[in-house]
Amino acid sequence: ESNDRPVLAIEDLTVSFDGFKAVDGLNFYVERNEVRVVIGPNGAGKTTVLDLICGKTQATAGSIQFKNRELTKMREHEIVQAGVGRKFQTPSIYENLSVFENLEMSFPRGRKVFGALVFKRTAEVVERVEAVAREIFLDAQLYQQADLLSHGQKQWLEIGMLLMQEPELLMLDEPVAGMSVSEREKTAELLGRISKGRSVLVIEHDMEFVKSIAHKVTVLHQGKILAEGSMESVQANPKVIEVYLGH
Ligand code: ADP
Repeated sequence: ESNDRPVLAIEDLTVSFDGFKAVDGLNFYVERNEVRVVIGPNGAGKTTVLDLICGKTQATAGSIQFKNRELTKMREHEIVQAGVGRKFQTPSIYENLSVFENLEMSFPRGRKVFGALVFKRTAEVVERVEAVAREIFLDAQLYQQADLLSHGQKQWLEIGMLLMQEPELLMLDEPVAGMSVSEREKTAELLGRISKGRSVLVIEHDMEFVKSIAHKVTVLHQGKILAEGSMESVQANPKVIEVYLGH
């Protein structure tokens, strides 16, 4: 096992839907401690790449190695257990439960005492919930019912629910959609912080936000990489301006 291999290494990945290649021979690598943002026009294949990584969609060909484990051969729940967390755009929090209970429920099953279905509220769980709540700016709302949170706070709670499972790769689809300016700034700070020791993979359309978070940007177009590098380099790339940024 080599240490210099990227945490996520995608090679020759292809998926065809009725002969149409939504992802076409993709080679894509993400490092630990990295915030990577994927941009590109609608239909470029961004969501499909995330679907392939989390096992929601099966690849037609190619490989997805995460920490040297082949994800294309694994089921969705096994991929979660391997350390991959995905936040979808549609919220999945329990509105009538508290912030605490929402976080508590996301604590990995494997740690429940004797595998019992009834949850045991151990000191370890409480500590972890409190630490995650601080991380996502919700320590003051810990015992508040989730439906009373702002839209942005609900998005953070979902990120917190993923953090409870201690993922090493977090994937987020347009995390600041509908957020206020101050919530966007705090989300940028949060993503920077959670990328320490992990990898964060984000799909985003808001170029100001991309600029504030991306260590590296990948531009997808027709299922292939059109450009990759710093925000400055992709913004100055004439091909990128032509198919995406110029519109
Ligand atoms: P993006 O997220 O960049 O907007 P998508 O990954 O959602 O793009 O879609 C890429 C292309 O693949 C689109 O043309 C879309 O219609 C097609 N596609 C995605 N999922 C499916 C599916 N399950 N069946 C058929 N076509 C699909």
